[in-house]
Amino acid sequence: PYEVLIVGGGPAGASAAIYSARKGIRTGVIAQRFGGQIMDTVAIENFISVSATEGPKLVANLEQHVMDYDVDVMKAQKAVALRQSNGADGKRVEVTLENGATLISKSIILATGARWREMNVPGEQEYRGKGVAYCPHCDGPLFKGKRVAVIGGGNSGIEAAIDLAGIVEHVTVLEFADTLRADDVLQRKARSMNNIDIITAAMSTEVLGDGQRVTGLNYTDRATGEEKTVALAGVFVQIGLVPNTDWLKGVVELNPRGEIMVDSRGETSIPGVFAAGDVTDSAYKQIIISMGSGATAALSAFDHLIRLPAQ
Ligand code: FAD
Repeated sequence: PYEVLIVGGGPAGASAAIYSARKGIRTGVIAQRFGGQIMDTVAIENFISVSATEGPKLVANLEQHVMDYDVDVMKAQKAVALRQSNGADGKRVEVTLENGATLISKSIILATGARWREMNVPGEQEYRGKGVAYCPHCDGPLFKGKRVAVIGGGNSGIEAAIDLAGIVEHVTVLEFADTLRADDVLQRKARSMNNIDIITAAMSTEVLGDGQRVTGLNYTDRATGEEKTVALAGVFVQIGLVPNTDWLKGVVELNPRGEIMVDSRGETSIPGVFAAGDVTDSAYKQIIISMGSGATAALSAFDHLIRLPAQ
């Protein structure tokens, strides 16, 4: 069996793999898509000590760094089930893959990440990274002095609007429902800023562009049925970040958002099962934070292993 089996090959999983392998323990990584969300990222300017890079370039560096060590990387494999079992010398965790294989390990690190909920309107995919953005901390500064929209009037949408309003020229918030769901304190703050407009009962219908970049957004005013267009350079979609935990429901403890609950050592509700990165209930979801929590989970897994009874 493996000593540490990591599910996920994004920054959290890669960091956990390097930290585990450096302890000389038998390490495996299962990754549906190595690199995770970074593969979809165009410009990265907040990976500290690297002024600017691109997603695929950072993924290549990550993979090279993992490959410097003796790690079994199983790419294009999807984990579909996790369960505890008893080995001859103590507890084991089994991970079943979609292809039917079962892998056994003494400890597990769950790093399956998350995905942004999409609007599913024409133009969204075409202009992804060309004006359509999902992360204000990441891409906000790219829109300095420009006009943008934020889709979604929940806490993350209004937080994004307040954040962006300090950088960009103007922010239009579009919310599908008749009222905002964000906390009052955030709504008050947003309404007090003179470069934020809030439009409720607005159904976004299309991202417009000139073939190169976003130029506007169409929406339907749900009260009147009227079609409207806003001219802008960026659309920040803030309608939810969904953790990849469908296969873990009822297995490890999740919070109401479906994120894996971890303690300060990255341990889940099952001893010997750790989690890291965007899949956890961490407050912020960023590359550097995922890597830090991957390192924490790996060190905690090692700590767990050295306490297991000798074989
Ligand atoms: P992920 O990157 O989501 O990786 C999850 C891994 O798990 C993948 O390998 C996936 O294939 C695998 N996986 C999932 N389910 C299974 C399964 N069942 N079995 C096996 N494998 C599975 N952050 C920044 O810091 N700076 C930025 O500029 C930035 N820009 C971004 C731009 C975009 C468009 C997006 C989408 C995100 C951006 N982020 C940015 C956020 C950053 O990418 C994430 O915080 C980070 O990738 C999270 O890392 P992770 O390893 O936890 O998860």
